[in-house]
Amino acid sequence: MTPEEFRKAGHELIDWIADYRTRIPALPVRARVRPGEVRAGLPASAPVSTDTFGDLMTDLEQIIVPGITQVQHPMHYGWFPSNASLASVLGDIASSGLGTLGISWESCPSLTELEEVVCDWLRQLTGLSDQWRGTIHDTASTACVTAMILARERASALSKNGAGLQGMTAPLIVYSTAQAHSSVAKAVQLAGFGNDNLRYVAEDPYTRAMLPEALAEAVAQDLAAGNIPAGIVCSVGATGTTAMDPVAAIAAIANRHSVWLHVDAAMAGSAMLLPECRHLWQGVEQADSLAWNPHKWMGTILDTALFYVRDVPHLERVMSTNPSYLRSAADGEVTQYRDWGIPLGRRFRALKLWFHLRLDGIDAIQARLRRDLDNAQWLKQQVEAADDWEVLAPVELQTVCIRHVPRDVQGNPISGEALDRHTLAWVERINASGSAFLSPSVLDGRWMARVSIGVEGTGREHVARLWQLLQEAV
Ligand SMILES: *Cc1c(COP(=O)(O)O)cnc(C)c1O
Repeated sequence: MTPEEFRKAGHELIDWIADYRTRIPALPVRARVRPGEVRAGLPASAPVSTDTFGDLMTDLEQIIVPGITQVQHPMHYGWFPSNASLASVLGDIASSGLGTLGISWESCPSLTELEEVVCDWLRQLTGLSDQWRGTIHDTASTACVTAMILARERASALSKNGAGLQGMTAPLIVYSTAQAHSSVAKAVQLAGFGNDNLRYVAEDPYTRAMLPEALAEAVAQDLAAGNIPAGIVCSVGATGTTAMDPVAAIAAIANRHSVWLHVDAAMAGSAMLLPECRHLWQGVEQADSLAWNPHKWMGTILDTALFYVRDVPHLERVMSTNPSYLRSAADGEVTQYRDWGIPLGRRFRALKLWFHLRLDGIDAIQARLRRDLDNAQWLKQQVEAADDWEVLAPVELQTVCIRHVPRDVQGNPISGEALDRHTLAWVERINASGSAFLSPSVLDGRWMARVSIGVEGTGREHVARLWQLLQEAV
C-alpha cells in the first residue's frame, strides 16, 4: 500500500469508525453469533491475490461486526467500562502510523521520553508522590507478574543470578485474598512460587476487604515454620465487588518484614483521578509497586496499563540482561524501558494517553467519572428500596452487586440452587434480548448480577431504563 492509497482508504476507515460509533446504540449489546460462526464466514487460507478495500470493508461490516459484543453500547453493564476514547483512538493510529521500533532509547528517543512524561502526568493526577516512576505495560496481568518476580528476587537475594528458586531451601510465600483477580494467582504461579505458597488471607464478611490482623497472623505462622514471606498483593477495587483492602495497615506489616507489597488497582486506579476517592488507597506511598489500567474506566484504548515502582535500581537489576548489541553511549543517562519489564520491543503506547489527556482533557474525564459514581449510588438506592431485591456489597465506586430474591409458595425467600437458577435465568433473559448486558458472577458460592456502570455514553436515563428492564426480567 502506497502512502496515497493509504490516504484514501484511511479517510474511508475514519468515516466508517465515526459512523459505527454513532450507530452503536441501535445494535444488540451482546454478540449474536454461535461458536465457530465467525470463523466459518472466513476463507480457511489467506487470499493469494489482493482484495479491494471495499471488499474488505464489506466483510468487516457483515462478518466481524455481528461477532462483537458492544461494550461501548450505553446499555452495556458487563465486566468493566473500557476502551472508549476516540481521542485515544487517534493516538493509537498515530502510534501505528509512525512505525517506530521501541527496543532502546536510541531506537526512538521520543517513545521513551514521552512515556516517562505521561507516566509522570498520571502520577501527579492520581496524587502520588515523586518517589514513584512509571512505565506502560500491556495489561495489569503483566504488571502483576513483573511485581511477583520483583518480590521473588528481593526475598531470594537475586537468586536469578544463580540457581534461581531451585536453589532455595525454604519456600517463598505470597499473600492475597480470595477476592483478588485471577491474574494474581496466575502471576504467583508463573513467577515460580507455586500455588501451595499462595495464602488467601481472611476477609471482612461484608466489605470483603483483607483483615490485617489475619495477615499478621499468617505471616507470623510462616515465619515460625521457617518459610519466607516474600510478597503481598493488595486489591484496591477487587474484581467481584470492588473490595478495598486496607493499604496502610497492610503496608505496615509488609514493611516490618521487608515483604514486597504490590497494589492491584487495575479498575479503581481511574477513581484516583478524583481527589475525593484517594482515601481508598490511603497508605499507598508505603507500597513497593502499583498498577492500574487507564484502558478501563478512564477510557484510554487498550493496551495501557500503568506500572509504578519506587525502587528502580532493583527493577533494573532484575529485568536487565544488557546484551552488547543493545549497549550504547547513552546508557546511564537515559531510561531503557527494556530493562523495566519482560518484552524487548514496545509500541509507542504513550501516544494513546497523550492524545487522550490533551484532546478530551482531565476535566471532562473527571466529570464523567463523577457522573458514573452518582449513577451507581442512584441505582443502589432504587434496588435497596424495592421489595425482594438486595444490594450485596458496599458500592465503593461504579459497580453495584445485586440479587433478586423472590418468595416461594409458602412465602419464604428462595435460596440455594433455586436462587441460582432464578438469577442466571433473568440475567440471560436480559442478555439474550440484546437490549442490555450484565455479567453474572459468583459471590460466596452463589450467583449474583454485577452492574458495572461507566460506558462513555451511559447517562442516568440509561441506568433508569436498566432498572426498568431488571424489574421486568425477574
Ligand atoms: C481487570 C483487572 C485485572 C486484569 O487486568 P488486565 O489488564 O486485563 O490484565 C487485574 N486486577 C483487577 C482488580 C482488575 O479489575
